[in-house]
Amino acid sequence: MPRHAPQSVTADAVVTINFYSPQPKIILINRLHPPFNEPTIYALPGGHVKSGTFNPENLRFENGDQNTLQTAIRELLEETNLDLTGCLPNKWRALPIMDSDNRDPRPDARHFSQPYWINITTSGLSSKSLQAGDDANAVYLSSLLWLHPNDMAFDHWYVIFWLQKYWRQLNSIWTTHYTESKPNQFRHFCQTIPTNFEIIYLNEQNRGLVVITPPSVSPFEINYCPFCSADLSIKPFI
Ligand SMILES: [Zn+2]
Repeated sequence: MPRHAPQSVTADAVVTINFYSPQPKIILINRLHPPFNEPTIYALPGGHVKSGTFNPENLRFENGDQNTLQTAIRELLEETNLDLTGCLPNKWRALPIMDSDNRDPRPDARHFSQPYWINITTSGLSSKSLQAGDDANAVYLSSLLWLHPNDMAFDHWYVIFWLQKYWRQLNSIWTTHYTESKPNQFRHFCQTIPTNFEIIYLNEQNRGLVVITPPSVSPFEINYCPFCSADLSIKPFI
């Protein structure tokens, strides 16, 4: 087998709070160790995959992380005290892997990182207090939309940029001003819709349905707004 330069895999936890609101927040840390261990530079909670030890009896690495999602959840707990181990795996969404050749200044290895995103509500957070630990020096609830490229360690800005762009894209199509009592309903933000029409996205039982609701029309699913041509297939992610 050809030899290759050392490679290292990490995973990051991208935890937003009330993403579908006018002021979404994100959990960030200050790093305790170099690189980027400065108070004005923020990073996603995350760290290296624990490989475990190979057991030749069952051909399995044991006592390590089962997968990169488990790494992200474990590192989140260690660095911020936020315990999301009870969340179903399908609530997490894998974002594109961060793998560019200049993303990490450490010379020991090429570092690749897999980010996982989850959105929680304030009530999901309130029962747990954020507290910096392990490799984190401080933990913050930062305003997602205010973050700037120079604020971020490594290439974590790409994750922030993606989230900001996605938030703006959704916000141009669906109003984020949903009510707490109906968190699974988003109304289409439309300049040209007649006043007796309304386009609502419903996500009940994780089943997306876009409906037009003038009083006399039964609900049906549509992909584009017939009034402003907005792409309604870009659906809010609950
Ligand atoms: Zn429209």
